[in-house]
Amino acid sequence: TGTGTFTVLRPDAEATERPAFAPAGHYVGGRFVPGSSGALTDVRNPALDTVIAGVPSGTVEDVDAAVAVARQAQRAWGQTTPRTRAEVVNRIADIIEANQEILAAVESANTGKPLATVEDDVRNAIDTFRFSAGAARTGTTMAAGDYAEGHTSVILREPVGVVGVITPWNYPLLMAAWKIAPILAAGNALVLKPSEETPLSVLKLAELLTGEVPDGLVNVVTGRGSVVGQRLADHPDVALIAITGSVGSGQAVAATAARTVKRVHLELGGKAPVIVFPDADLAAAAAGVRAAGFWNAGQDCGAACRVLVHESVAEKFTALLVEEVSTIVVGAPGGGADVELGPMISQRHFEKVKAALDAIKADGLRIAVGGAAIDGPGFFVEPTVVVDVPEGAAITRDEVFGPIVSVETFRTAEEAISRANDTPYGLSASVWTRDSDLAISLPRRLDFGTVWVNAHLVFGAELPWGGFKGSGYGRDLSSYSIDDFTRTKHVMLNHHS
Ligand code: NAD
Repeated sequence: TGTGTFTVLRPDAEATERPAFAPAGHYVGGRFVPGSSGALTDVRNPALDTVIAGVPSGTVEDVDAAVAVARQAQRAWGQTTPRTRAEVVNRIADIIEANQEILAAVESANTGKPLATVEDDVRNAIDTFRFSAGAARTGTTMAAGDYAEGHTSVILREPVGVVGVITPWNYPLLMAAWKIAPILAAGNALVLKPSEETPLSVLKLAELLTGEVPDGLVNVVTGRGSVVGQRLADHPDVALIAITGSVGSGQAVAATAARTVKRVHLELGGKAPVIVFPDADLAAAAAGVRAAGFWNAGQDCGAACRVLVHESVAEKFTALLVEEVSTIVVGAPGGGADVELGPMISQRHFEKVKAALDAIKADGLRIAVGGAAIDGPGFFVEPTVVVDVPEGAAITRDEVFGPIVSVETFRTAEEAISRANDTPYGLSASVWTRDSDLAISLPRRLDFGTVWVNAHLVFGAELPWGGFKGSGYGRDLSSYSIDDFTRTKHVMLNHHS
C-alpha cells in the first residue's frame, strides 16, 4: 500500500486486450519458425499483470540454425557497397516510420510504459537507423599511404561476420535499434536474443522487415539468457557478441566468449551521480533530476538516481526536488495523456525495488516523498526521494533500476569528485554549475563515459554512448559503434620498381 500521495491512473474500461500482434515463433531467414522444443514462454503486460503472448523457449539447436542462416546471408551482404547498405538501413527507418503506431502499441503493451515514452523510443529508433545509413558511407576508416619503402599500404575496415546481440527489457525496441543499425551498416548479419520479458517489439519489427531487407540478415531467437544468450556467446561462427544488460550477465557473456576468443561489446549497468554546486540554477537541476531520474520509472542505466548536492544549498534544492517529484503522474497505458510514470517491468523486478525501499527504511533514512509500492493490478512504485543520505549507504552504491533518487551532501569539489568516482560503475554523470571553470575542469576528472553539464540523459545518434569500469566497454550510437562492428585489415602492396 502506498503513502496515499500517488494513485495509478488507469484506462476507463478494464483493458485486457492483447496487442494486435501474436508472434508465430522465432524469426529466422525472413520468416517465423517454431521453436525446436515446442515449449512456449508467457509474455506479460506489467501494467495489468496479464499474459499477452507466448514465444518459443529457444534452444541451442534454434540458435545454431539461426547462426547458419545468418552466416549464409552475410556472405553476400558483406560484399555490398556502402551505398547499398545505406539504402537498406534507410529503408528500415522508413518501415519503422510507417508503422510507428503499431510498434508503439506493442511496446507499450509489453512494458506498461506510457505511450509518450514509447513514442519517443520509436522516434529515436528511426533516427538511429537514419544516422547509421549515412554513417555507412562515411563512418569507417579507409586509409592508404606508403609507410615502407617501395610499398603501399591500404587499411580496410571489414565486417566481422555474424554478430550475436543480447538486449535488455528497459528499452526493448530502442536497444535493439542501437545494435541492428550499426551492425547492418558495417556489413554484418545478426542473431538477436531479446529479453525474456520483452520480446514482442523486435519480433514485430522483424516481421515488418520481411521482403524489405535481405532474408537472414536480421534473425531473432527468443529464450533464456542462460541458454540462448550463452549459446550465442559460445558459437564458433559468431564473430562478436554484444550485450546490453546487467554487470553479472556481461561477465557471464565475456567469460563464455573467451572460449572462442570472441570479441565482446558490453553496455552494462550504471549508477549516475548528479553533482549540484552551490552556484547552480537549482530549479533547473531539480527539474533535470525529475525528468532524468524518473524517466521510464527510473529503469534506465543512465538514470539521475544519486544526487550529491553542496551542503549550503541542500535544503533549498531538496525542497525544489520534492515539489517537482510530487507532481509526477503515475499510470497505466490508456490512463491519459498526463501519465508519465509506468510500472516496474515484472513482478520479480517489483520485488527487488520493494526490497530496496525496505532496506532504506531499515537503515532509518528519511523519505521526503513516495516510498511505497502502490496497490495492483500491475507493478507500480511511487516516485521516491530519500534525503540526508549518509556517505556509503547502500542506496548510493547499488543500481536499483526503479523510481528512487537519493540525496547526499558534500562540502568541497574535491570531495564531490572522489565520492562520485567511488563506484564500480562508470557509465554517466552530470554536473550542475554556472561556474565555467568547474564546467570545463570537472568532466575531465569524472570517470564516466558520458558527462553532462547542466543536463542529464540527453542523447544524439551522432554521440557515443558507453561506459568505463564495471559499466563495460564498446560504444553504442555514433560512428564509433559502426567501427566497433568492423575489423581492421592491413593490405600491403609491393611496387616492384
Ligand atoms: P539482464 O542482465 O538481466 O538481462 C539482459 C539480457 O541478458 C537479457 O536478454 C537476458 O536474457 C540476458 N542474459 C542474462 N543472463 C545471461 C547469461 N548468463 N548469458 C547470456 N545472456 C544473459 O538485464 P535486464 O534486467 O534485462 O536490464 C537491466 C540492466 O541492463 C541494468 O543493469 C541496466 O543498467 C543495463 N542497461 C545498460 C544499458 C547501457 O547502455 N549501458 C542500457 C540499458 C540497460
